[in-house]
Amino acid sequence: MVRKLQAQGVSHPGVLAAMQAVERHRFVDTALANQAYEDTSLPIGLGQTISKPSVVARMLELLCQGREGRIGRVLDIGTGCGYQAAVLSHLVQEVYSIERLRALHEKARDNLRAFRLANVHLLFGDGMPGYPQGAPYAGIVAAAGGNDVPQAWIEQLAVGGRLVAPAVTDSGQQHLIVIERHAHGFTRSVLEPVLFVPLKSGVS
Ligand code: SAH
Repeated sequence: MVRKLQAQGVSHPGVLAAMQAVERHRFVDTALANQAYEDTSLPIGLGQTISKPSVVARMLELLCQGREGRIGRVLDIGTGCGYQAAVLSHLVQEVYSIERLRALHEKARDNLRAFRLANVHLLFGDGMPGYPQGAPYAGIVAAAGGNDVPQAWIEQLAVGGRLVAPAVTDSGQQHLIVIERHAHGFTRSVLEPVLFVPLKSGVS
């Protein structure tokens, strides 16, 4: 899988090592385990999916680009099965990962137990308002996209921090958005079109 990612242009050594370290087959049903190392999203229950490895790598590369060593605290919105949180745990100091569906939050907890990742904090709740208790964040990544990036997420970024999230743009299509906070303002970049599950409010 990692060789395929490299062939697709992923070059960040830390991201490649983190993707190598986390066994993706441990996050999907046994019936799907034989597809776990293909570049495809897979169902994880409740209509949600584990993102494609190339998409996870792309987002984490955008998060880490140009930054030395482990970055600080990161908020991961949409824990799902916990795969991306596990990969992040190798790249950052602390991961706060929030999921609005209780069954998935519990599944992620079960999936992650054996990995014993002391720096991953799984939270059950609506990630739409971010998670102010952990703010400010050196990074925010979201695996679900709405009509815009919630203002609360932007406000919870540390100076020098970066947010990577899907959102629907004026074109009507979902794109990857990168927002960086500088000492005196923000920059926003719209990157390639993507296809993430919808960002929803409330818990269930
Ligand atoms: N990173 C995950 C991807 C899961 S799919 C993984 O590695 O498996 C995205 C997840 O976002 C879904 O589980 C969905 O329930 C969750 N989600 C959608 N809106 C949310 C919200 N407002 N707060 C928290 N989680 C949300």
